[in-house]
Amino acid sequence: MFKREMVFSWLALLLIGALIVVGVPAIGQSSFLATATPPPSPTNNGGNAQWTIHSSTFESNFPKGFSFTLEATSSGGKIVSAAVLWRHSPVSSRTRRLATIDESGTKMTAVWEKTPGDAVPQWAGVEYWWLLEDESGNLYETPRQYAEYADNTRKWSRLESDDIIVFWQEGVPDEVGPLTIAAMEKQRAFYEQNWANPLGYKPRAIIYADFQTWAEWSPGRGTVGGGLVVVGQTSQSWGATAQVYDPFIQPVEEVANDTIPHEVAHLYQYANGGTSGLTWFIEGSATFFERNSGPRIEQRVRRMAREGRLPTLQEQGPGGREAYDIGYMFWVWLTETYGADAHRRTWELVRSGRPQRAALEAIANKPFIEMETEFRTWLGAINPEVPTPLPTLPFFLPPTPTYEPTPRR
Ligand SMILES: [Zn+2]
Repeated sequence: MFKREMVFSWLALLLIGALIVVGVPAIGQSSFLATATPPPSPTNNGGNAQWTIHSSTFESNFPKGFSFTLEATSSGGKIVSAAVLWRHSPVSSRTRRLATIDESGTKMTAVWEKTPGDAVPQWAGVEYWWLLEDESGNLYETPRQYAEYADNTRKWSRLESDDIIVFWQEGVPDEVGPLTIAAMEKQRAFYEQNWANPLGYKPRAIIYADFQTWAEWSPGRGTVGGGLVVVGQTSQSWGATAQVYDPFIQPVEEVANDTIPHEVAHLYQYANGGTSGLTWFIEGSATFFERNSGPRIEQRVRRMAREGRLPTLQEQGPGGREAYDIGYMFWVWLTETYGADAHRRTWELVRSGRPQRAALEAIANKPFIEMETEFRTWLGAINPEVPTPLPTLPFFLPPTPTYEPTPRR
């Protein structure tokens, strides 16, 4: 069952108040005709019968949901049972809907409608296939087909490369497409160098021109809480990052070069051991993949060190922006000190089940507290001895464990 169990969702939070508007239904369509070539698996696909697919369609009814139709025949008689299965990325769980079948036993329809707990943004990919049974008991699984949950209620642009598919709503500067393609191409070698396990799919970036459009696909998604507004989310279950563009907060160059590479790194984290645990470890690692923010962050963190304001990484470590900045500098230090492959090796250990701090200790071959003292010395801290931990700031803790805040820089 597809629930939102897939756990890994990053939310970008804004330190402003705002209102949510929910809105605007409409209809769209994409379809294609499949040939009846049985896939190599499952074995004995089709049983003793000859199966023929006459047509297969996928229709997006964004924002309500989507629907499937299939026309097929079996030499074994009427089709008596049919279900469509789909998933939004190869690493997400499958969803399944039983189809209604017409009198003739050849025409099938299945519908998915979003609910508050089960929704995906526009432009999520949809990989789908059918399971059929005829009245003689033969079972047949159709070949995989691919579609997109198109939003035909607005004007969107789409650009695809070997690295990413970018969608941006009318109103977002068009440069975001080519800039993102270029940034991800330039980062390709860096991802390959720093992650043992590839994503296994092409990530998607969905850039919204306004908060209302973002909040529409899943009412409540853009909920305001504690003065924070959710303006983005990255999810491995849809293999995408969805972000609201705000020129006053972030120029488009920064979205392309920093935000999107950062969010895609979270998708890699999921594929390489997971994304829970220490915020500075996770967010610092994702920030490590931003292209242009490094010098600014370094300046900020080194100043904190010089002024004796550097919080400790013991226990939960810092929260909020400090977790991003200091975490980032930690990965810079680690890879400069223990080899360019130190990020990759650390995450390989995490993926094999080692706790994050223990993985770092294995890379450095020393206790974490000694590593931290070295790190603080490297940063130029006037007090390199690790201070007693302060309680973490509850303000930045997410309302549910599903979400982690991503303060915009
Ligand atoms: Zn992040």
